[in-house]
Amino acid sequence: MDYQERDLVVKMLTRQGTKLSLFVYGGQGGGAKKKPKIFQPGSLLKVELQRDKKNSNEGLKIAKDSKVLWQSEHIRYSSQAFYFQCFFLEIINKVSQDYQDELSISEEMQGFFNVLSNSLFYLDQECKRHQHLWLNHLMFFQVKLIYHLGLTPQMDHCVYCQGPLLIHQSWLIPSEGGFSCRTCQGNKEGLGTSNLLSHFKFVFEKKYENVFSLHSVTSSEAKELFQFLLFHLQIKEADFKTISLVFH
Ligand SMILES: [Zn+2]
Repeated sequence: MDYQERDLVVKMLTRQGTKLSLFVYGGQGGGAKKKPKIFQPGSLLKVELQRDKKNSNEGLKIAKDSKVLWQSEHIRYSSQAFYFQCFFLEIINKVSQDYQDELSISEEMQGFFNVLSNSLFYLDQECKRHQHLWLNHLMFFQVKLIYHLGLTPQMDHCVYCQGPLLIHQSWLIPSEGGFSCRTCQGNKEGLGTSNLLSHFKFVFEKKYENVFSLHSVTSSEAKELFQFLLFHLQIKEADFKTISLVFH
């Protein structure tokens, strides 16, 4: 394929939750017609694909016409928000399957699109509010993603003894796929309290718009949840480029 300096190859998540590699002629913007650069990370676009036989043979699709439906106004001006956006995009890229014309679409996959679009919309709102509740966004994104991946742990009973779980005395055990009670955790050193179960329940029951109402999320709780995701997705921490931007 011939291509020029201003052409662009982008990766997009479709509304069906699959990812699509897209070739955009003049996608960098500029040129004699001074076209704007509309393909920015995290933007929501409506794209019409070129339909020809040659096009469908390749993994790469060609954009015929594209229009911006939503774009963040503030994320690019906040380094924190930008880091979180990069992290969300990287996870979604890892969990979503490649686009295929005849792929049967599952409800789980469609959920990825909702999680990503909500996460970026509310991240943009966060920038306007100046409350810096970044960890709330991390918690919401992960719990919602875990739900759509079909990995939601049991929240009422201990994964070992089936006894009831206490809200501030429960620990998430990735290899068991659920929470453990205090008794089963024993008296391990440094075992304080953990509010992860409480946060998890809150997010699980609420819509994304409640992201600003979650209280006192700590970095270690967000990380505990991330370890759970990594374990179940079988991804190594070292394979994540953006992890150091988000977890300190
Ligand atoms: Zn137990």
